[in-house]
Amino acid sequence: MTAAANGRLRPVIAIDGPAGAGKSTLAAHLARRFGLLNLETGAMYRALALKALETSTALGDEAALARLTASTQILLEPRPNDTNRVLLDGNDVTARIREKDVSEAASQVSVHPRVRAWMVERQRAMGAQGGVVMEGRDIGTKVFPDAELKIFLDAQDEVRGQRRYLQSAGSNDAPTPEAVLAAVRDRDARDRNRAASPLEPALDAVHLDTTGLTLEQVCALAEGLVETRMAD
Ligand code: C5P
Repeated sequence: MTAAANGRLRPVIAIDGPAGAGKSTLAAHLARRFGLLNLETGAMYRALALKALETSTALGDEAALARLTASTQILLEPRPNDTNRVLLDGNDVTARIREKDVSEAASQVSVHPRVRAWMVERQRAMGAQGGVVMEGRDIGTKVFPDAELKIFLDAQDEVRGQRRYLQSAGSNDAPTPEAVLAAVRDRDARDRNRAASPLEPALDAVHLDTTGLTLEQVCALAEGLVETRMAD
């Protein structure tokens, strides 16, 4: 299906998968290579989670979180070759939302259907014209089920934990590799087992297991997929 047939000027590429599979790196690469905007939807859940922590809103209280969204503005600003700059109510929270407490809180706020509905509405608006690589957990299944290309990126738990560990190594509160692996598994279990839009591949997603692959190999495979789809 081409972008025009879907009512868009340019394609939508959906990348889903668990933590540490390499989604952000691949999304940034494809965005640069094909002149698309790279949108990290996880950053939106992280930003709302940060606001919940800062306002002492209970992470399990769906109604309170829904009220919180009504007074919340989250902006993603794609930056070439980099993660999105994230503005929460006008404040730059780009670095803060990557910290451990926010990672855990994000996977807790994301289980609530009303929170998800608020996010999905905004994400659809952001990608309505196409020309985006959007990455998350439910992009191919829920946000853009008509995406021109859906990639489900995965890797063995141990490999994903190791990648996350290497990303965090050197920071002030650097955790042990075992603690990082446990946190990744915990977050995945919550994402895969929640009732609302659980993490699962879309039926028409292309599966890429990055366990034994280098970054260059993953990027080359994905580039090939985009080129094939764009030529259809
Ligand atoms: O991708 P990232 O690790 O930044 O996402 C943080 C959390 O946000 C995930 O663990 C998941 O619970 C949630 N999320 C989601 N749906 C998305 C993106 C992220 O539920 N589309």
